[in-house]
Amino acid sequence: MRRPLIAGNWKMRLELGSARELVSGISQSIPPHASAALDVAVCPPFVYLHPLAEALDDGPIQLGAQDVYFEAQGAFTGEVSAAMLADVGVKYVIIGHSERRHTIGHLEDDYMINLKLRAAQKAGLTPILCVGETLAQRQAEQTMDVLAFQLTAGLLGAAPRSADELVIAYEPVWAIGTGHNATAAQAQEAHAHLRAVLRQFVGGRAEQIRILYGGSMKPDNARELISQPDVDGGLVGGASLKADAFCGIIQAALAAMG
Ligand code: PEP
Repeated sequence: MRRPLIAGNWKMRLELGSARELVSGISQSIPPHASAALDVAVCPPFVYLHPLAEALDDGPIQLGAQDVYFEAQGAFTGEVSAAMLADVGVKYVIIGHSERRHTIGHLEDDYMINLKLRAAQKAGLTPILCVGETLAQRQAEQTMDVLAFQLTAGLLGAAPRSADELVIAYEPVWAIGTGHNATAAQAQEAHAHLRAVLRQFVGGRAEQIRILYGGSMKPDNARELISQPDVDGGLVGGASLKADAFCGIIQAALAAMG
């Protein structure tokens, strides 16, 4: 059985004081038996990684970054390398989030996403590779093709050998931050398809790789989503900014596991 992961993507939100309060609130409310059953991570903005790494110490919450640059070092003003992230205690890094693919500045393509993923793996980080279709692509019945393409392109030359080398997040673009989550059936269909594509890369090891759902996950829909056989946790945006909502999702994941 795959060990679920609940990861919070804080995006460009919070201040240092409220970030510290949030991790302390999560630490206090997280069920004591949670760390025996699942992994929990928070992904704050870069500048809060180091102070939060110190605050989280060896506790039940792991640290993730929201992006990484693919070069090891050099004249790349404003960028942060995978080794730098590892150096301050980061374990996970989100790669190819839909806001980076579709909204922010230079708009990342699958080639750059693949370079970032390989750089993260090389530094010993666990990449969380985000894939997902736009509403127009879903309406044009292109969802499965888009997912297969993004996963294949993202993983070129980077087939994972273990669950530590890859997490996938299925994040339908139309569900992110909209309050309209995918139904459990839509999520399961997409996740099963992604696992089938992954099997072409790594055979039976595809059964070990976690595929998270992301897109308006909340305490009241998390249990049904995570109960699906190929849904192995959540990448949570809005609901990760409040300790009670985030811990509600952790509780729902525990309940989904039976
Ligand atoms: C996200 O940003 O990855 C996300 C899933 O956001 P939200 O939960 O707010 O839809």
